[in-house]
Amino acid sequence: MNSNAGGLYKKSFNKNKIRKRKRDNDVKEKMRDREKNGSWRESDRNSPRISRSDCDSTPTRSTTPRSSGGGLTSRKAIDIHFIKRKLKLLEYQQKMLKNLSKGKFRWINEKLYSSSSSSALELFQNNPLLFDEYHQGFRSAVNSWPVNPADILIDYLKGKPKEWIVADLGCGEGKIAQEAPNKVLSFDLVANNHMIIACDIAKLPIPNCLFDIVIFCLSLMGTNYVDFLKEAYRTLKPKGELKIAEVVSRFSDIDAFIKVLAEIGFKFVEK
Ligand code: SAH
Repeated sequence: MNSNAGGLYKKSFNKNKIRKRKRDNDVKEKMRDREKNGSWRESDRNSPRISRSDCDSTPTRSTTPRSSGGGLTSRKAIDIHFIKRKLKLLEYQQKMLKNLSKGKFRWINEKLYSSSSSSALELFQNNPLLFDEYHQGFRSAVNSWPVNPADILIDYLKGKPKEWIVADLGCGEGKIAQEAPNKVLSFDLVANNHMIIACDIAKLPIPNCLFDIVIFCLSLMGTNYVDFLKEAYRTLKPKGELKIAEVVSRFSDIDAFIKVLAEIGFKFVEK
């Protein structure tokens, strides 16, 4: 029964195919006749039409030359309509993706601020893609600010001796090392390029008293950020400088923060 039904279907399908082929051959023959007899007007030749290479391989009525091109206009209109719809969908998808990556950035940021540095290290080690996702979001956030604090620090370093050794702790993608004239060593949880040393800045793989300047640019994250400051103190030369750039909201009480620095051994110079 089933195979019968299949056979019947096939037969009627073949019949349709034969009918269609005949119709197409008729059209082709008519076109040839018209060319031969010169009945094809010049306006027909120049009028816009869909050539075979423009349409799909199945010849349709629209392959017949028309002087008005009415069918063609509606086909074009449909195409344009679909292209517009596709573009709208693309815009929507891009917006969704942007919102998603913004959300992801906020989530990672929150994680870095609310967990210890060892957990943050583990997070990035277990999900290597997170670091790039974080920095994509970070870049677009920084681009919306009137100034990038890293640029202010780079300008400051330009006024310092070239041979000075600088530590950029929590360097991100290593912008300071790329643009400052001094010898900059960059550290972050993930080494985004070969110039960066991957480590937790609470435990620097560096001997005592090496650096002339230690920088934290928006990187005092982690619940144990005081450990970062202690590492800065340990690795700075006597009379070395500590430079911190942070968003104002990072510290609820800036004077209390300065007090913590004094307890570690730093002498406050300027705000
Ligand atoms: N200083 C860079 C990046 C700031 S984003 C700039 O201004 O462009 C903060 C960076 O601090 C991130 O790349 C993050 O991975 C890093 N960071 C946070 N905690 C860290 C830790 N314990 N050890 C190393 N890097 C850390």
